[in-house]
Amino acid sequence: MNTNNALRTIEMIRCASNAATAWRAAQHAVRKAQDEHDAAQVQLNHWNDHIYAMGGTDRASPGHSALLAADHVFQEAEQKVRKAEARLRRASARLQAHRPAFNRYPTHRNRTHVTTLLLDRLADHQVDLARAADLIIIQTSAGKDSIVAMHRTVAAAKAAGCLHKVRAMHCDLGSAEWPGVRELARRQAERYGIPFLVVTPGGGFLGMVENRRQWPDAKRRLCTSTLKRDPTGPVITAWVEELGLNRQAIVVNVMGVRGAESTLRARKPRLALDTRTTSANRLVLTWNIIHELSEQEVWQDIAANGLEYHPIYDTGLPRLSCVYCVLAGPDWLILATRVCFALELPLPETYAALERRIGHSFKQDFTLNAIIAASRMLDALDGPVTWRRGDALRQHLGPAVADRYLATFT
Ligand code: SF4
Repeated sequence: MNTNNALRTIEMIRCASNAATAWRAAQHAVRKAQDEHDAAQVQLNHWNDHIYAMGGTDRASPGHSALLAADHVFQEAEQKVRKAEARLRRASARLQAHRPAFNRYPTHRNRTHVTTLLLDRLADHQVDLARAADLIIIQTSAGKDSIVAMHRTVAAAKAAGCLHKVRAMHCDLGSAEWPGVRELARRQAERYGIPFLVVTPGGGFLGMVENRRQWPDAKRRLCTSTLKRDPTGPVITAWVEELGLNRQAIVVNVMGVRGAESTLRARKPRLALDTRTTSANRLVLTWNIIHELSEQEVWQDIAANGLEYHPIYDTGLPRLSCVYCVLAGPDWLILATRVCFALELPLPETYAALERRIGHSFKQDFTLNAIIAASRMLDALDGPVTWRRGDALRQHLGPAVADRYLATFT
C-alpha cells in the first residue's frame, strides 16, 4: 500500500463527507426559510384582503398596522430564503468539487468503512507512517505508557530517517501531580534529543475545580478535555505554521493509550483521524502506538531499554499524573494518601479543604475526608507505607530484572 495515496484518499473522503453534510444542512435551511416565507405570505395576503374590504383607505386602523408588520416579516423571510439559497449553491459547488470521491464512497457507512480500513493498514507500517508525516507530536504524561510510546515512536522515526520531525508535549496540571513529573518528562525527551514543550493550562487541575465548584467525574472528564486536549490545539496550529508548507500538513499525534486499560480504550483504534483538529491545512491522525501492549509488555520494554520511570510506580500505584485521580477507586486513593503521608506532601489536606470549600464530594459515594481518615487508620495499624526503587519491576518481572535495570542507572 502506498502511504501517501492512502492519506490522500482519507482526506478526499473527509472532504466528501463534510461537503455532503454541508449540502444536507443547506437543503434543510432552504426548506425552513421557504416555510417561513410561505407563512409570512399568508399573513400578508390576509391583511391585504382586510384593508381592501375596509375600502383600502383606513391607514390608522389596527388592520393597517398588522399589514405593515406582516409586510416586514415577509421581507425578512424573503431575505432568509435568498441567504439559504446562496448557502445551498455554495454547498452544491463544494459537493460537486468532491463528486468523484462522493460517487465512489456514496454512503456514510462505506466512507467510514474505507477510512477505518486504510487507517488500520497504515498502523501496520509504522516506519512508512513516520516517513509520510510532516510533524510527529508525542503527548507525554511522563507515565510508563508514555515513555514506551515515546521510545517506539522515536525508533520508527529513526528507522525512517526523520527524527527531526518528532517533538514532545507535556501538559502540566500543576500541584495536583506527583512531584517530579514535569522534570521527568523533560529528561525522557532529552534522552532522544527531541524538542520538548510544557503546556501549563491556567490554574491547573485545582484551579479548574475551584472555579467550577465541582469535581470532574467519569461522565464529565473536564480535566482531560479542558486541561489536556484543548491547550494542544493552538500548539499544533503554531507548529504547522512554522513548517511553512504550501500544502496540507500531515500531523501524527502520538498517545500512550492501551486497549488493556479499559473497555472504552479497547474500542479505540490504533490510528484514528482526528476530525476535530483536522482542517484544510492539516490532516491530524491520533496514533495509539502501544494500543496492543499489555502492562507486562510495557514493563518489559522499560526494563529492556533502560527507560527511566517515575518512582511513584514503586509504591504499587498503577498510574502517574494526578495524585488523586477522579477515576480512581477507594483502594488507589487510600494508597495515594498514605504515600503522601510518607513523602510529607500537603496534598491530602489541600484537597480536603477544597472539597469542604466547594461543598461537592470528590466522588459520588465518598468524600476525600473519609479517604484520609481511612488512610490514617491504616497507617496507625500497619505503620507507614514503604517501598524501594525498582519495586515495580520486581513485582512485574522479578528481582533479577530489577537489579539489572538499577545497575544501568547507577
Ligand atoms: S489523572 Fe485523572 S484526574 Fe488527573 S487529569 Fe487524568 S483523568 Fe483527570
